[in-house]
Amino acid sequence: SAVIESRDLNLYYGKAHALKNINMDIPEKSITAIIGPSGCGKSTYLRCMNRMNDLLPGVKITGTLGFRGKNIYDRDVDVVALRKDIGMVFQKPNPFPMSIYDNVAYGPRIHGVRKRETLDHIVERSLQQAALWDELKDRLRDSALSISGGQQQRLCIARCLAVEPEVILMDEPASALDPIATSKIEDLMRELKERYTIVIVTHNMQQAARVSDRTAFFLMGELIEYDYTK
Ligand code: ADP
Ligand code: ADP
Repeated sequence: SAVIESRDLNLYYGKAHALKNINMDIPEKSITAIIGPSGCGKSTYLRCMNRMNDLLPGVKITGTLGFRGKNIYDRDVDVVALRKDIGMVFQKPNPFPMSIYDNVAYGPRIHGVRKRETLDHIVERSLQQAALWDELKDRLRDSALSISGGQQQRLCIARCLAVEPEVILMDEPASALDPIATSKIEDLMRELKERYTIVIVTHNMQQAARVSDRTAFFLMGELIEYDYTK
């Protein structure tokens, strides 16, 4: 069944019509790649899914974007709770300037987890899911800024997983990384889709073909092709 459903979704930055009547269903436990040339609205669409656009001045949104049957643009939606369910990983790895452990424990702490034992367990589980536990288990107290770029990006994924989201949004998650780190991220995405719904923005068609179950091709703010068949 669909986790995210866009119905006639439009977004305007002032007069610029950045998303035009987007209708799209994203099923659970799948990887959807959003592809298309620079400026076609990929990031804008991804950012809609966890409410990162609509607080900018001059932005207007019409239509609906449903998450589990509820419009995330309804007034009573709790954006903090939404971002727990729908996590985001950015193009540039952005670990917080704190220890590896504290990066992963950050979200659970915000959501009220205090017990050391529980946090330890979450940190181990999340790092394991992000294929980092073996590499980093003896370095949990080291600064997150002391590890490689590829490890930092997988740490950002672990930080996202720590709050047990349903959906993970990734905006060009590998484009700042070298080829080896990129292939590790791609392997990880394929593993994560067993448990999560993943939406990735990429301008790299080969990457989209390698990792995704379905591709949504955007052009000038429109969804012009959505390939369900793969
Ligand atoms: P990308 O192509 O990777 O999306 P951009 O250089 O287009 O990167 O955008 C970088 C940042 O600048 C984004 O946060 C985007 O929302 C913002 N941005 C892009 N275009 C404009 C614009 N015309 N006016 C204001 N901000 C913009
Ligand atoms: P993509 O991710 O496909 O490169 P974007 O979603 O970043 O495209 O941008 C879509 C269009 O919206 C572009 O014309 C861009 O300049 C514009 N845009 C993006 N962010 C902003 C912003 N914050 N303010 C104004 N225009 C923006």
